[in-house]
Amino acid sequence: MEPLIKVRDLYKIFNIGTNKVYALNGVSFDIYRGEFIAIVGTSGSGKSTCLNMLAGLEAPSSGIIQIAGKRIDRMNESQLVAFRRQNVGFIFQSYNLIPSMNALENVSMPLMFRGVPLETRTKAAKHYMELIGIGDQGLHMPNQMSGGQQQRVGIARALVIDPKIIFADEPTGNLDSHTTDDVLNLLKKIVEEEHRTLVMVTHDPHIASWADRQLRVVDGHIVETVINKESSIEQEILRETGSEPYCVVTPEN
Ligand code: ADP
Ligand code: MG
Repeated sequence: MEPLIKVRDLYKIFNIGTNKVYALNGVSFDIYRGEFIAIVGTSGSGKSTCLNMLAGLEAPSSGIIQIAGKRIDRMNESQLVAFRRQNVGFIFQSYNLIPSMNALENVSMPLMFRGVPLETRTKAAKHYMELIGIGDQGLHMPNQMSGGQQQRVGIARALVIDPKIIFADEPTGNLDSHTTDDVLNLLKKIVEEEHRTLVMVTHDPHIASWADRQLRVVDGHIVETVINKESSIEQEILRETGSEPYCVVTPEN
């Protein structure tokens, strides 16, 4: 059993004038296929920076990111574009739907970029919309849908390319608590039933507790890793590898 994602000594340093901001301060961890991971911490702790680097959206200052055996920290921009199209679904806090397209067109859009013919991509989009419980809403425009429905469209769009990994940055940040539970239940179901891997960023410890494993981030360091002992995937990793997933924890202060 090999980790799907391997991160070693990852740094991201922003130069602002003569100041250096250490957004990510040397983190090292593994993520296995089928895990639901929460990266949790207060605003400005480095969560989004970490997620964006894992998704190949931002380049690290130094360190290693290996995904499915490939060093994405060594890829150039066109290799990264291909990597993302092939492997990565991204769910945003503000849904990022295209207002002039209906739900079905929004969901099928990533397949358009892959050059999939209209009929095939419509069929795939319908499949994922049904899976997510919005099969009857294909013709609705985003502004005719509630926040929870729009985020379901966002989730179906992330799934439509059949990605290995789903990245989600505060996916329930704009939803009320009832809809938040619905969306988290849905994400958990997708991870379990389809054996996908989900890396979710949240500032909310309650939302983070839904995950199989939490990485708590403070000032660009991982200061704690919390494993849900009930989780079947965590039990499987322990059984197969004989140890808990690799993660370097830095003492706070
Ligand atoms: P979080 O998602 O946990 O709120 P971020 O990863 O967005 O935190 O930011 C971590 C730190 O890096 C913050 O201090 C933030 O101000 C800084 N930062 C993030 N992006 C940039 C950028 N593009 N330029 C300069 N500083 C940045
Ligand atoms: Mg953020």
